[in-house]
Amino acid sequence: MSKYIFVTGGVVSSVGKGITVASMGTILKSRQITVSVQKLDPYLNVDPGTMSPYQHGEVFVTQDGAETDLDLGNYERFIDVNLTADSNVTSGQIYSAVIAKERRGDFLGGTIQVVPHVTTEIKQRFEKLAQKSQAEVIIIEVGGTVGDIEGQPFLEAIRQMRNDVGRDNVLYVHVTLLPYLNSTQELKTKPTQHSVNELRRIGIQPDVIICRSDYPIPEEAKNKISLFCDVDREAVIPLPTVSTIYEVPLILEEEGLGQLIVDKLSLKAHQPDLSQWQELVSRLKAPHEPVNIALVGKYVELKDAYFSVREALRHAGLYHNRDINLLWVRSEDLERDGSDALLDSAQGIIVPGGFGIRGINGMLKAASYARNNEIPYLGLCLGMHVMVIEFARYILGSMEPNSTEFDASTPYPVIDLLPEQKEMENKGGTMRLGNYPCQLVDGSRAANAYGQSLVYERHRHRLEFNNQFRTPLEKAGMVYSGLSPDGRLVELCELTNHPWMVSCQFHPEFSSRPTRPHPLFRDFIGVAKDILREGAQPPLPFSP
Ligand code: GLN
Repeated sequence: MSKYIFVTGGVVSSVGKGITVASMGTILKSRQITVSVQKLDPYLNVDPGTMSPYQHGEVFVTQDGAETDLDLGNYERFIDVNLTADSNVTSGQIYSAVIAKERRGDFLGGTIQVVPHVTTEIKQRFEKLAQKSQAEVIIIEVGGTVGDIEGQPFLEAIRQMRNDVGRDNVLYVHVTLLPYLNSTQELKTKPTQHSVNELRRIGIQPDVIICRSDYPIPEEAKNKISLFCDVDREAVIPLPTVSTIYEVPLILEEEGLGQLIVDKLSLKAHQPDLSQWQELVSRLKAPHEPVNIALVGKYVELKDAYFSVREALRHAGLYHNRDINLLWVRSEDLERDGSDALLDSAQGIIVPGGFGIRGINGMLKAASYARNNEIPYLGLCLGMHVMVIEFARYILGSMEPNSTEFDASTPYPVIDLLPEQKEMENKGGTMRLGNYPCQLVDGSRAANAYGQSLVYERHRHRLEFNNQFRTPLEKAGMVYSGLSPDGRLVELCELTNHPWMVSCQFHPEFSSRPTRPHPLFRDFIGVAKDILREGAQPPLPFSP
């Protein structure tokens, strides 16, 4: 039977609860304990797929095509597992399931209530993941902070679990923030005490409190938290802000969290082996020569909107012993005259995924800049559409080629809706989602990067390359370097007369891992790092 660790948050959101959960997975896995993870999102959307990135950050796509919270990306990167739809549960899913059962008559005669009907539905999701994954430990993160109205049923469900599966099989971890007061120059524990009181009010006594803080946490503060919140002194775990998120597992391990979990849940464990992780962190922290990469997107004000892209770039940089100096370029800013200067120092340009017409002209300008100046370019999904439109406009000598997403009546619809999308009325969960095969074309840059002929990649799109335009673009130097096995869909395209201009219809960023960069990102940085921009010095032999 699986054991459960439930993680709640207090005081404020965005303190890195997701990274903490992912890191707990890393330290358990380092003891050869099998782990699976689940995120509970209290909002009423069925999934984040219909939310703006401004609301929610990136939508992470699993292999089986679920549109999920970006924390799942961190779980995958830190624990090196491929998760499924079962790892993200929202209030929207829970309520629709309960109401569907009621309509079917499953509860005939009963009054449907939050307790027990909603809480039972929630607990069934815990059990389903435990059954399917057969993991020894299931870590479950409750999104938001204690006290949120929407979160109540989830907290009640995790409270009930202590009785359902037994006290020794459940551990409650609370992640809080210790704010720093400038006037008295001290870290305050009172908000933590209040948030633990809030938890206790609903019947949950935390076993472990992880204290996030921007400053080192003095013994005195730890003692106070232990006393007032009634947790063991060694179960108050300080987690100061660090320069790289990949350091968090090492800090938690050093603070004894791994052993504490093993003891409290009576787990069978091996000695922890975090040597790979230690090496990763020391390489990440060592100074490296930077590569300037411009990320041209619509949502750059919110860095979380491109979380996996940024991480995948970082993994690729590490492979080449380079730091990624990410230049965030708002695509709309490129639409002004003379804005090319924003790309002057870029050694590589990346145009990531996105939806809607806003900022498209700026992205087209970036693609044209990359093509004309021979700057490496990586286009991801929308970034591929942009590359195809720009190239078609160039070879046809017309501004009319477009995607029907942006101009439904263009005479040159080089990007058009997938046939199965034409009849689609609902917006939620109806894109082409998740893993699909892609057959690579021998000798292409893409095939060289992968070093294999058939790959599976994660998708999230409604539009595709319009096959009517394959021949004219091919004649002008576009290579379709990856196709669906039936040859119907263009999955990858690249340009011949260019150092490295490659785009894909899928999202390679989701499957990149810290020690295994995605081949396309790896080769993109591999070429970009040797590009010299005007005024730049050729790299000197670098001694850290
Ligand atoms: N908007 C485009 C489509 O729906 C691209 C989607 C994306 O970049 N994920 O096909």
